[in-house]
Amino acid sequence: MLYPGLIRQYRTYLPVAEEAVVTLHEGRTPLFESKGLVKKFNLPIQLYLKLEGLNPTGSFKDRGMTYAVSKAVEMGTKAIICASTGNTSASAAAYAARAGIAAMVVVPEGKIALGKLSQAQIHGAQVFQVKGNFDEALAVVKKISEQDGIILVNSINPHRLLGQQTAAFEIVEDLGDAPDYHFIPVGNAGNIVAYYRGYTRYFEEGKAKQKPKMCGFQAAGSAPIVLNKIIEHPETVASAIRIGNPANWQPAKEVAKESGGFIDKVEDEEILAAYEAVAQVDGFFCEPASAASIAGLIKKAKEGFFKGGEKVVCTLTGHGLKDPDQAIALSPKPHVVEARVEAVLEKLKW
Ligand SMILES: *Cc1c(COP(=O)(O)O)cnc(C)c1O
Repeated sequence: MLYPGLIRQYRTYLPVAEEAVVTLHEGRTPLFESKGLVKKFNLPIQLYLKLEGLNPTGSFKDRGMTYAVSKAVEMGTKAIICASTGNTSASAAAYAARAGIAAMVVVPEGKIALGKLSQAQIHGAQVFQVKGNFDEALAVVKKISEQDGIILVNSINPHRLLGQQTAAFEIVEDLGDAPDYHFIPVGNAGNIVAYYRGYTRYFEEGKAKQKPKMCGFQAAGSAPIVLNKIIEHPETVASAIRIGNPANWQPAKEVAKESGGFIDKVEDEEILAAYEAVAQVDGFFCEPASAASIAGLIKKAKEGFFKGGEKVVCTLTGHGLKDPDQAIALSPKPHVVEARVEAVLEKLKW
């Protein structure tokens, strides 16, 4: 049978009229056991990576977008709007195209990765670049969405988080239980909440014997939850989590506390080192924001956080191809040589 996408796969959790379903067959992403990171950093754990960059538009945002857009279509809506650090706009534009409705996306000028901007554009969204940051863009679209007929699809839309909880369902199905820990990057802080709700749901239904401790990581230059204050000018190379006033701030704090986990921060250097490491020792190219979870894991392991033998899942939230500039900037330049065997051999190392 063809995999039908998240809404039909998890119908009882995501109710919507069948004729309103808008899907790109998102979800069912691979959960990989990491051998490379475990070896390189001597991690005393069993580590699994949830590859959310393999969703149709290259990030986990598709899980929430399929449901938010389907519910919007069910209501007869003709337009959706969002603010975005990039991936929400890419996803909203694609699902709106699939649904045949209009998408308007508002992004911070010059602050989003080129791959993400290109996605919103090719899917035919109306793109606005505001001279301001994500938090200011969100304030603008919130106001506009108060008008009739236009639906906000940022993660304050409750359907987004309901869709995103399916990632936790898939992990429990793959492992046969919830992991001991779940490590995840935190930006607007919706995903950490969605995962925990998903795990809790399966736990309550007896599909999992435990719930994981949720461990979230913000970038040090945009760590409002950790520092307990709004950051007016958030800065980090991890543009997808460059958010100074997260919409799901309180729920995320509660989830961290209730699960026995925490929200901490990692420096940009740690993020980039983790980003490079997972690409080089495990073969997975994620975007810098995704690597915040791995950077956090490495940091905690160094502090002696793990007793040994724990099962840990780390979400890699988005695909590395969205932001190739970062990869190129970190890597050695390609050799430029004459098109002769000797010229190549001269530079070749084994
Ligand atoms: C949106 C996003 C995040 C942050 O998720 P939140 O739910 O806003 O915390 C992290 N990584 C990537 C790649 C994203 O697109």
